[in-house]
Amino acid sequence: ETIGANFSRIAAEHGEREALVEAATGRRWSYRELADAVGEFARGLLGSGIRKGDRVGIWAVNCAEWVIVQYATAQIGAILVNVNPAYRQHELAYALNQSGMRMIIAQVGFKNSAFRELIDAVRPECPALADAVYIDDPSWQRLIESGRDLPDSALADRAAELSADDPINIQYTSGTTGFPKGATLSHHNILNNGFFVTETIRITNQDRICVPVPFYHCFGMVMCNLGATSHGAAIVIPGPAFDPARTLQTVQDEKCTALYGVPTMFIAEQNLADFAGYDLSSLRTGIMAGSPCPVEVMKRCMTEMHMEQVAIAYGMTETSPVSMQTRPDDDVERRTATVGRVHPHLEVKIVDPATGLTVPRGTPGEFCTRGYSVMLGYWEDPQKTAEAIDQARWMHTGDLAEMREDGYVTIVGRIKDMVIRGGENLYPREIEEFLYTHPDIADVQVVGVPDPEHGEELCAWITLRAGAQPIDQAAIAAFCAGKLSKHKIPRYVLIVQEFPMTVTGKIRKMEMRASSIELLG
Ligand code: ATP
Ligand code: MG
Repeated sequence: ETIGANFSRIAAEHGEREALVEAATGRRWSYRELADAVGEFARGLLGSGIRKGDRVGIWAVNCAEWVIVQYATAQIGAILVNVNPAYRQHELAYALNQSGMRMIIAQVGFKNSAFRELIDAVRPECPALADAVYIDDPSWQRLIESGRDLPDSALADRAAELSADDPINIQYTSGTTGFPKGATLSHHNILNNGFFVTETIRITNQDRICVPVPFYHCFGMVMCNLGATSHGAAIVIPGPAFDPARTLQTVQDEKCTALYGVPTMFIAEQNLADFAGYDLSSLRTGIMAGSPCPVEVMKRCMTEMHMEQVAIAYGMTETSPVSMQTRPDDDVERRTATVGRVHPHLEVKIVDPATGLTVPRGTPGEFCTRGYSVMLGYWEDPQKTAEAIDQARWMHTGDLAEMREDGYVTIVGRIKDMVIRGGENLYPREIEEFLYTHPDIADVQVVGVPDPEHGEELCAWITLRAGAQPIDQAAIAAFCAGKLSKHKIPRYVLIVQEFPMTVTGKIRKMEMRASSIELLG
């Protein structure tokens, strides 16, 4: 089934049920109203000459129009290109040219970001871009007008040309390990994944999912939007950008039953001074993904936030995204020590990166997955695609993981972050987690730096808590003594104000490796 066919079928079934709510503005759409808005915009796209396979970009923070554009492009078989709202001129021009974008649909601006001005600035270097349409602007209505004169059958005729295996979406990866790559996904990839993500947390048409995570990322557009509409549930948008108080207020006002977020969002919500004042009793479940969740945070989610069935999910843009998820009756240990077990209809294996052979349970290796969720490839990059997906269609994720006897998987780190000291594999995450327990350390990242004797040595980048005493290598060595084996104690310590970050807020370890050498002289 294509995304358009799935959405039309569900919308027909659930007509008057609520589909979409924008809590900040009070705007709301039933399934029938949303289907009308989507159909009208889809006709407008047809009327302005968008063909099957043309790339249409969306550049906006979370709003109802994002969702309308997502389903309208899917209905006419245009490939939606998600553009991160944090992008600036250079990154925008890269995404426009790399995808060969023909039309961009954007907000005029948000806070300090003047999207329209940035688009005007890059147009001379982006010759393929024929049209720019703005959400909060008359050009939105003009696009809709351009579809008015089309015959009634226009949308159905286009739908008949589409196949579920066609590419429908390009999502750029976060760029944690290099330049962002354009993961190209089909209807089949993301519609099924959205469906199984919410099926696993038992979402039904009675549910209302609060989504403070950005739509431009698969967490928002697949795990929430496609996950919700494929079950006839409601999408509730608390606001354009994450705000912990507004998120909890929205859960309370809209009686949301599920709440999504990365662990740091749940931490911010739980740390609100008036946290206990919100009525969160409507919550039952939710999804936490992107990075590991501290035990204390998970416990408070399950008790004080009433999300007894909250799931941990693991995935990557290239795999639509989710391949592992905890189940509703898993205990706190499984929901914090692991990322769950394999999703329905997917295969996973953990291999020795050197030999490609499956390693025994409990041994770290590269996490590989195969099945419907593996992307079609990286947009116009056959070489990178061949490095990631092997001949047997296994996606090599670059993540290091261990499979336990019970089939649950623990993520150990990224292969590119692994440090080889004196022939021994060291996993920075393990050392970071230990150092994190030091009372003066606010945050810590461990990277490898070249060493003539051992090949590599560990270097810890540390940010200190406000008012903390200065820390040096000797102090760290003393703190680790007797608790970490000697070869895991960082040889170098750098105290910094902040870490180099990607635009999606992930830490750029590759860059830290290089600058460690300079900073250490
Ligand atoms: P790039 O591929 O451009 O370097 P990226 O890998 O950070 O960037 P994403 O696709 O957004 O881009 O992130 C996927 C990665 O996030 C996974 O490969 C994994 O390393 C990490 N991740 C996702 N979910 C979890 C989780 N539940 N626990 C730990 N790590 C996770
Ligand atoms: Mg990646």
